[in-house]
Amino acid sequence: MSEKRDQFIQWVRDAHAMEKQAETMLNAQSNRIEKYPELRSRIEQHLTETQSQSRRLEECLSSLGESTSTVKDTAGTMTAVAQGIGGMFVGDEVVKGAMAGYTFEHFEISAYNALIAAAEECGEPQAAELFRDIRREEEAMAASLAELLPGVTAQYLQREEAGVSGKR
Ligand code: MG
Ligand code: FE
Repeated sequence: MSEKRDQFIQWVRDAHAMEKQAETMLNAQSNRIEKYPELRSRIEQHLTETQSQSRRLEECLSSLGESTSTVKDTAGTMTAVAQGIGGMFVGDEVVKGAMAGYTFEHFEISAYNALIAAAEECGEPQAAELFRDIRREEEAMAASLAELLPGVTAQYLQREEAGVSGKR
């Protein structure tokens, strides 16, 4: 197996680890949010998409000849970055969570941009197609978060002003 193909496969594994991290993060966030139903339901929708992304990446790995039982997610560099951004969700405040979410989606978009180029370089057009599909979901989520952030921020401030906690 060629060096570049090995590197490519490692990046697909990294993406899988990133999606697992995303799943944990989105799950924690949707459980925490109480007073922002629109944001919460968008997060739940993306959680479902993210679970499907993980499955599709596993299928992709097995079609590349990789055994998925060994998809144990080694902590590559990309994974560490994803975990760093994911850690920002630990905070209890909805505005910071939405900001971190937007950042995370862009990290994902960037990862899939690289993967698309790598798949093409390695002569794997089907994988490139999958990464494009997933990238569309990440772009849509980033756009939703950008759209929801101003309203969430305004509501948060109004609730704080009224003495009702709007943190979650
Ligand atoms: Mg994703
Ligand atoms: Fe995402």
